[in-house]
Amino acid sequence: MLIGENNLHLLTQPKNIVVTTHHKPDGDALGSSLGLYHWLKAKGHQVEVVLSSDFPDFLNWMPGREDVIIFPNDTTRAEHLIQQADIIFCLDYSALSRTNILEPILRAANGQKWMIDHHLDPEDFASLSYWDATAAATAQLVYTFISDVYEDAAGITPEIATCLYAGIMTDTGSFRFRSTTAAVHLIISKLIEAGARNWEIHEHIYNSSTENRLKFLGYCLLNCLEVIPEYNTAVFAVTKEDLEQFQVTTGDTEGLVNYALSVKGIRLAALFIDRTELIKLSLRSTGEIPCNEICKKYFNGGGHLNASGGSSTETLSETVNKFKSILPTYKEILTT
Ligand code: 5GP
Ligand code: MN
Repeated sequence: MLIGENNLHLLTQPKNIVVTTHHKPDGDALGSSLGLYHWLKAKGHQVEVVLSSDFPDFLNWMPGREDVIIFPNDTTRAEHLIQQADIIFCLDYSALSRTNILEPILRAANGQKWMIDHHLDPEDFASLSYWDATAAATAQLVYTFISDVYEDAAGITPEIATCLYAGIMTDTGSFRFRSTTAAVHLIISKLIEAGARNWEIHEHIYNSSTENRLKFLGYCLLNCLEVIPEYNTAVFAVTKEDLEQFQVTTGDTEGLVNYALSVKGIRLAALFIDRTELIKLSLRSTGEIPCNEICKKYFNGGGHLNASGGSSTETLSETVNKFKSILPTYKEILTT
C-alpha cells in the first residue's frame, strides 16, 4: 500500500536525506537501510544512515557499514543531520518509539518522514508510507520501491542487491518462514542476477560465531531450556549472570529462540533475557498462534503473528511465571 504518492516527485531533485531504522538493528533493518542508502546516493542525494545503537557483529561486513552514524558516538552531528534533512526514511519500523533515543529528535524534525515497513498497526506519522504487513521483509519492500514505484530495477547495483538479499534472508529465517512466497523467491532471483553473491552472504551471517557465542548456545541448551509438553511450549530464561559469564554482546542471542521452536511438537517458543534495566522477551510460534497478541496484551510489545517481542520490568522469574500463567488461555490453539 502506497500513501502519499504526490510526494514521490521530491526525489527527482537532489535532497538531504537521513535513513533511520529501529533500535538494535537486525539483518533486515540494516540491510534495507544500507540498500536504500546506496540507491539514493547513486541518484545524487546527500544521504546518511543514523542508528540509535550499534549493530551485531554478524552484520559487520555489509557494504556501507563504515559510513553509518551511530547516534551515541556522534550525537551533535546526528542531531544536526536529522534536523536539516528534507526527507527522513523510516525503515523496518512503524512506531517512532522503536527508534529509542532518536524518537524525540525525529518527532521534532521538520523534514518529511517516509516510512517503508511491514509491521502491524502502523502509527500515523509519515508523509509517505509504503507499507505491507504481508511482505517478508522491509528489504523486499525497498526492492519493489526501487523497481516498481521508481521503475529503476536497472539501478540495483551489486552492493544494493547484497544488502537487500541479506535483509530478506534474515527476516525469512533463510527462506523458511511462511512469508516466503513465490514473489519473494522471484525477487531473490533478481537480486542474485544483480550481483548478490548468495553463498558469501550466508557465510558472513551464519559462519561468523565466536567460540564464546557457540559455548553460550551450548550452555543455554543445557541449562536454560524448559519444555512444557502439555502446552507444546518451550522457554529459555537467561539470567544476568549467564550473560556476564559468556560476555554476551549485541547479536549473540539472535536466533536462540528458534532452537526452542525446533523441538519436535513445539508450537510456541519464548526467550526471556535479563537485560538489567528490563527483561526482554522474544516469542516465536507456528500456525495461527498469535505471538503479537500475547506480546501486546501482556508484555508491552508487539510484532508479527509468528515472531514478536516485548519487555517487562518485573524480575526474570516473575516474568516467566506470568508467561506460564497465560498458557491456559491459549490451550486450545496450542494443543489442537
Ligand atoms: P525479536 O524477538 O527478534 O527481538 O523481535 C521479533 C519481532 O518482534 C521484531 O521484528 C519486531 O517486529 C517485534 N518486536 C520486538 N520487540 C518489540 C517491542 O518491544 N515492541 C514491539 N511493538 N515490537 C517488538
Ligand atoms: Mn523486518
